[in-house]
Amino acid sequence: MRHLATELSTPLLVHDRAVLRRRAGELRRVLPADAVLLYSLKANPLPPVVAALQAAGCGSEVSSLGELAVALGTGAPPGPILYTGPGKSVAELRAAVDAGAILSCESAVEVARVREAVRPGPTAPLRVVVRVQPPSRPAAGLSMSDGRQFGFLVDEAIEFCRRPGAGVEVLGVHCYLGSQLPTPDDLLAAFAHVVDVVGNIAAESGVPPRIVDVGGGFPWPYATPGQGPDLTSLAAGLPQVLAPLAAAGAEVWFESGRGLVAAAGRLLTTVRDVKHRAGTTVVVVDAGVNVLGGMSGLGRVLRPSTQLRNLSNPDGPRTTVDVVGPLCTPLDRLAVNSTVAAPSVGDLLCVENVGAYATTAALSAFLSRPPAVEVVVDGDEVVEAWSLATGHVPVALSAPLRVAEPVRAG
Ligand SMILES: *Cc1c(COP(=O)(O)O)cnc(C)c1O
Repeated sequence: MRHLATELSTPLLVHDRAVLRRRAGELRRVLPADAVLLYSLKANPLPPVVAALQAAGCGSEVSSLGELAVALGTGAPPGPILYTGPGKSVAELRAAVDAGAILSCESAVEVARVREAVRPGPTAPLRVVVRVQPPSRPAAGLSMSDGRQFGFLVDEAIEFCRRPGAGVEVLGVHCYLGSQLPTPDDLLAAFAHVVDVVGNIAAESGVPPRIVDVGGGFPWPYATPGQGPDLTSLAAGLPQVLAPLAAAGAEVWFESGRGLVAAAGRLLTTVRDVKHRAGTTVVVVDAGVNVLGGMSGLGRVLRPSTQLRNLSNPDGPRTTVDVVGPLCTPLDRLAVNSTVAAPSVGDLLCVENVGAYATTAALSAFLSRPPAVEVVVDGDEVVEAWSLATGHVPVALSAPLRVAEPVRAG
């Protein structure tokens, strides 16, 4: 790791393809064997990351022309593509349809726009699933993101399924209830709720779904060590929850962003300064919220609960510090009251579980600093390096590098 940081400089994001393959396998084993698992590119659209997940059998959930281009351009078979999101432009709708993607349709206004934009012939109906935003929560106490801007209301969806209009084929329903559902029981409750809503829409409209995207919400820690909950009981409970869909012959789709990629990524950052202040030590590092999760993606400034490891001095005395980035704003805090082996200037610090929502959720343009280089490794082999400097572009690696260098050589 230190070798990489020296060669490519910091801040550096390191994504491990071996972990991506492992996570895709782990999540697929929890889901029914014939279910489709879509990777949500907004968590991390780095082409080699997406390619690894496509090669592991994932389809793609995309929500912009940029994400669509990545999903189509990795060289791996893209699998099913679902194009989602409110307010799609004519250009997006056209590109999605041309690419053979299924549209997650947001409203009757959007259907009208897509029909206008695309004008399919009688042999090529537009293939859509209806995005639905149910009004009620599946379980008391389960807090889910406010999704008011998404999808059709249930009554609107029933009406739309009954009369989608010429040239539009409604394949089914898409319903995403939220991210970071904390436990297997919460996930089961969410999926059961979607199955109920879908059953209601099918019964009222008389249109049985062929595809039901029941969403996701598979949780994973962010910027702290650890892993998501054991999903064995989810695997055990899913067949019963999904039984009505199986009986109706519907294909079941799931979506995951962080559950697939979070564990594979870590951030390396270098200590630039250490300041002793009344009651606290402030550690200034070269990665701020311009590199790791800012407001744009998470709806808020990074919650400063990040935990760091000191790779340069792992056995040093433990000390409590605030860790701040280099940006000219007091909001640029990575960690508050965090315990770490005492950092000195020049030490290399590491943040685990940032393979999702690092670059994509960061305030990249704030203070005009270059984005972190993102290097993709496969176990101990370095594969390629990328940077978001002008869209995601590859960066030349000067020499073959090994990652498996011991943290403390000699
Ligand atoms: C953001 C999003 C996801 C991915 O969320 P994660 O918490 O990263 O798994 C999946 N589906 C939709 C519709 C989303 O908006």
